[in-house]
Amino acid sequence: MTAPAYKRILLKLSGEALMGDDSYGINRAVVERIVAEIKEVSGLGVEVAMVIGGGNIFRGMAPAAAGMDRATADYMGMLATVMNSMALQDAMTRAGLECRVQSALSLEQVAEPFIRGKALRYLEDGKVVIFAAGIGSPFFTTDTAAALRGVEMSADVVIKATKVDGVYTADPKKDPKATRYQKVSFDEAIGKDLKVMDATALTLCRDQKLPIIVFSIFKEGALKRVVMGQDEGTLVHC
Ligand code: UDP
Repeated sequence: MTAPAYKRILLKLSGEALMGDDSYGINRAVVERIVAEIKEVSGLGVEVAMVIGGGNIFRGMAPAAAGMDRATADYMGMLATVMNSMALQDAMTRAGLECRVQSALSLEQVAEPFIRGKALRYLEDGKVVIFAAGIGSPFFTTDTAAALRGVEMSADVVIKATKVDGVYTADPKKDPKATRYQKVSFDEAIGKDLKVMDATALTLCRDQKLPIIVFSIFKEGALKRVVMGQDEGTLVHC
């Protein structure tokens, strides 16, 4: 059997990925299916670090636009990512996959603090590590957290799971002629404002030469195909 294309990955899941077809919250069946896919990839010997968003529960931007203090709203968003991380850890434990949650905010009763060296050791031991609470600061996103933790963990790639199976020339829902990029450079993605990740995350990955693959978590088996280096999603490269 061919070996995986990557030894260590940073998988970024948006909070919405955990919602399935629901309009809010955490869909148990969806979480279990995602965990099964992660377990399969981990079983191939790939080290899996993860960052999860919080958009299925709370995002800071909208309440801030409606008048709430932005930093307060963002801390609430970070707490939402902790809930998602705990749900995923619980599902992984039930599936027999060892997992540790490290939080960028101090929440010692529910999660370990983020300690880089410890996280690296967990990964080397084959445990999944979920980085919760983003980077721990307001005015950032979990995309940026994924880029930062990916660099800190010396991941080979950031794999961003979305609802769409890659990066398109235009919004495929609005433009039937939109086509998927198999590969796109960071400069083109940034220059054309393609919907890959936010600009802070993109420039960090570009500067640190950390490639990104955007793929759909809703396509069964897609995560494994990405990890095996098959044509799936869009590769954003230097
Ligand atoms: N957030 C933050 N700092 C971070 C990461 C997240 O303030 O480092 C807040 C922000 O309000 C954001 C929310 O947490 O809207 C949830 O994260 P995000 O929107 O990235 O989640 P996703 O869209 O991936 O579900």
